[in-house]
Amino acid sequence: MKKDNKEKSKNQKSGASRRDFLKNSTIAAGAVAAAMTVPGVSAASAETECQPTNPYGPRPGGGVSLPDYYKPWPAIKNNNFYIPGQEILPKNEMRIFFLGSTPWPPTQLQSGTSMLVELGNGTLQPRRFFFDMGNGSIRNAIALQVPAPLINDIFLSHLHSDHFADLPYMYPFRAFSGGFTPLRVYGPSGRTPELGTKHMIKHMKEMNRWHEESFNVNPMGDGLEIEVTEFDWKEENGIVYNKDGVVVRHWPRSHVKDGASAYRLDWEDAGLSFVWTGDGRPDELSAKYGKGADVFVSEGTIDTPTLSSYKLGAPPELWEYTIDIFHTMYYAAGYLFKQAQPRIGCICHYEWSGAGLDAESVAEVRSNWDGLFMFGGPDVQVLNVSKDAIWAREALMPEGAAPPSMDPRWLLKPGEKLPETMTLPEPTLPREKQQEQFVRDLEIDPHKYYPPGEYRKPIQKWPGITLNPREMLAARGIKVDD
Ligand SMILES: [Zn+2]
Ligand SMILES: [Zn+2]
Repeated sequence: MKKDNKEKSKNQKSGASRRDFLKNSTIAAGAVAAAMTVPGVSAASAETECQPTNPYGPRPGGGVSLPDYYKPWPAIKNNNFYIPGQEILPKNEMRIFFLGSTPWPPTQLQSGTSMLVELGNGTLQPRRFFFDMGNGSIRNAIALQVPAPLINDIFLSHLHSDHFADLPYMYPFRAFSGGFTPLRVYGPSGRTPELGTKHMIKHMKEMNRWHEESFNVNPMGDGLEIEVTEFDWKEENGIVYNKDGVVVRHWPRSHVKDGASAYRLDWEDAGLSFVWTGDGRPDELSAKYGKGADVFVSEGTIDTPTLSSYKLGAPPELWEYTIDIFHTMYYAAGYLFKQAQPRIGCICHYEWSGAGLDAESVAEVRSNWDGLFMFGGPDVQVLNVSKDAIWAREALMPEGAAPPSMDPRWLLKPGEKLPETMTLPEPTLPREKQQEQFVRDLEIDPHKYYPPGEYRKPIQKWPGITLNPREMLAARGIKVDD
C-alpha cells in the first residue's frame, strides 16, 4: 500500500490535493468513508502534496470527507446500530436497507442484491418499495421484522437472477402468511416479448405450479396473483409508478443485453429521492436523470484485474472483458457521483474483496468523488435520510427471530376498521383433489405416537376459520384502540 501512494502521486495535478489525499484513504467496507491516512505517507509528502480540505468546509475533528449533515437526530434510537422493530420512521423521513449487496458469490457477509426503501408515515409499518430481490435478501427483510404479507411493490432492474432469485421463493409464502392481495412487480421489457418481465413472471409461476397447487389447500385469497407492470426498456425517464406523491422513473442502461434499467424514486411530500442504477456500464443517462438525488446507489466493481486473478484465479483478461461489457468499475461509480452530485453516493452490488483491498476500493471511488460515500454492505447497512441530515448504521440482525407472520390488521384495506369477525379465504384445491388415497393410507396412526393424554384428532379437511381479531391480538398482548 505504501507503493500505491507513490503511484498515485503522479496524478496530483492542478492543486487537486483533496482528492489525491482521499485516494490514499482507507475504511472498513460498509462504513461511511471517514478518510484516514495510510501509514507510510512521508511527513514531507503529506505536508506538501496532501493538504486535505473537507469539500464541505473545515470542521476540526470531523474528518476530511464528512459533511455537517452527516449526523444523527432524535428519531435515530441508537447511533451505532439499528434494532429491528424498535424505531418508528417519522413522516417525511426515508430509510434504506441494503438487504443484499453482491452479484456473486453469495457469502456469509453478502446476499444477492436488494434494497428496501421505506418512506416514513409515523407508524411501525412505513410505505415500502423493494428494488431487486436477489438470493438471500428476503431472509434479511424478515430478520428486520418486515411482515411477509406487507411485502409488495418490487421493482426489478433487469432479469439476471442475482436480482430476482428470491422472488419465486418469497411470493407463495407471502400469500401463505396472509398476503391475500396480489403482488405488484415492475420491470423492463426486452428485445422480444420472451425477454421481458411479464414472460419471466409467467414462467416463474409455471415453474412454481406444484408449489402453488399444494399451497392452495390453504387460504391464499388473491395472494398468488402477480400484477406485472412491464415498461418499455428503451424509454428515457419514463414513469413506471405514480401514486400518492411518489413517482418512480426509469431509463435504459448498457448491460450487455437490451432490457436493463435504472430507477429513480421521488417522494414529493418529503422532497427526497433515491436512485438505483441497477447493473450496467457508466452512462450519460444515469448522470442526467440521477442528478441531485439525495441517495444515488450505483453498482460497482473493483478494477484490479491482475490482483483479482491472483486472488481468485480467473485470467485478468476475463475480468477485464466482464467489467468492460457488463459493469461499472469503482472509478466510474465515483465519476457518476461527481456528475450527479447526490447528498450521498453508495455502491451496492459489489463483490467485497476482503479487508486487504478496502483501501484500494475507496481510492478508486475517491479518484473522482470527494463527497459523502458508503458501501451498501456487507449486509445489512441502514441509511436514514431526512431533509437536514443523513446517518448510516449497521443493522443488528436477530439470528432466529422472525416477525409475526399473520396479523388481522394486515388483512384490512387502508383506513378500514377492524371488524368483529373475519373469515379466512376458502382454499381452492383440497388435498383430495391432488393426492391419491393410498398415500394417505400409508400415514402412521397418530395414536401410536401421541402420548395418551395429548391425542388430538388431526384436522385434515378445511374447517373454515373465522377469526375474532381483537381476541386474537389480545392473546398476543396487543390491545387495539378503535
Ligand atoms: Zn447483477
Ligand atoms: Zn446484471
